[in-house]
Amino acid sequence: MSVILISTDRFAEHQTPPGHPERPERAEVMDAVAARWRERGTEIVAPREATTEQLGRVHDAEHIRRMSETRLKSRQLDADTYTSPESYEIALLAAGAAIDAVERVMGDSHKAAVAMVRPPGHHAERDRAMGFCLYNNVAVAAAHARAQGAAKVAIVDYDVHHGNGTQHIFETDPHVLYISTHQFPYYPGTGAAQEVGRGAGLGFTVNVPLEVGAVDEDYQLAFSAIVLPVLRQFEPDLLIVSAGFDAHERDPLGGMRLSTAAFGAMTAELRLVAEECCRGRIVSVTEGGYDLHALAASLDAVIEAHAAPASTSPVQWPPSGVSSDRGQIAINTVRQMLRGHWTI
Ligand SMILES: [Zn+2]
Repeated sequence: MSVILISTDRFAEHQTPPGHPERPERAEVMDAVAARWRERGTEIVAPREATTEQLGRVHDAEHIRRMSETRLKSRQLDADTYTSPESYEIALLAAGAAIDAVERVMGDSHKAAVAMVRPPGHHAERDRAMGFCLYNNVAVAAAHARAQGAAKVAIVDYDVHHGNGTQHIFETDPHVLYISTHQFPYYPGTGAAQEVGRGAGLGFTVNVPLEVGAVDEDYQLAFSAIVLPVLRQFEPDLLIVSAGFDAHERDPLGGMRLSTAAFGAMTAELRLVAEECCRGRIVSVTEGGYDLHALAASLDAVIEAHAAPASTSPVQWPPSGVSSDRGQIAINTVRQMLRGHWTI
C-alpha cells in the first residue's frame, strides 16, 4: 500500500438532534487511524475538492446548486440529513478524496487506496441528498474512472444499508457493475434481489439481501457464491468498495453480527479479484459505521488487507461459532434472479 486519503467530517454535535448517530468524535478516530498508519510508513494525502464538472457526471445541476446554498449554513435536508456550516466544503472534499484515490490507482502510482471520508455517499441520489449523504462519493469516483478511460468499473458495497443512490445512478449502465450485500428489509427499503438493473444495464445490478442477524459465515457464503464469481466474470478495470462498517456486531444502527476480522477478510477477497482482473487496482471509500471503536478496528483491518503483500492463497475467514442459514437463503434467491446473466 500506497496511500490513505483523508477527509474528516466536522459535523458539530449541536447541529444534530440528541441521539443522532453523526458524531464529531469520528474525525478524531479517523485521524488516530491515519496517524498509526503514517508511523508505519503509509503515505497520507489531504484531498482536493471535487469540481462541479466532476460532480455533474452523476448529479443534476439543480442538486449541485441546492447543495452550494448550504455553504456556511445549518440546514435540515431530509429526515436524518443535516448540514453544519462546514458540511458543504467537507462534502466536496469527501467526493474529491474518492476521485483522488481513483486517479492514483488508475495512474498506477499506487495500486490500492483508501479514502477515509465523511459524509458518506451511497444514499445520495442524482437529484437529492439522503441518509447523511450529500454527494455520492463512490458514484462520482466511478464516473471519473470511466471518464479517465476505464472501460468497466465494479462497485462492491458491504455497508449494512443498501446503496440506493449508487444503484439508481448506474442501473441502466452495463459498464458499471453494482453489487451490494445489506440487511433487508431495512432502510432505505430498496435492494431486493429482484432489482437487477434496467434496460442495457439488466444484470449489472446484483443485490444480496440478508436477513437481520447475519454472521461472518453468511457473508463468506455470499462472497464465495455470488460477489466473487460475478466480479471475476465481469472483469473490471477498477474495483471500488463502498466500505461501510455498520454491519459490525457492535454497531448501534445495524442488526448484523460481522466481526472486525470479517472486514479484513472481505477486503482480502476483493483484493485477490483486483490482482487477477485489474492489476490490483482497488479503492475503498468509507460509508457508514457508528460504533467508533468498531470503526477504528475495522478500518485498521481493511487498511491492513490493502497494505499486505499480494497473495494468491485462499483468504482465511474467522469462524463465528454461530450457525445461520441467512446466507444460503439469500444466495438461493439471488441465483434465481440472475440466472441467464451470470454463472453463479
Ligand atoms: Zn450504512
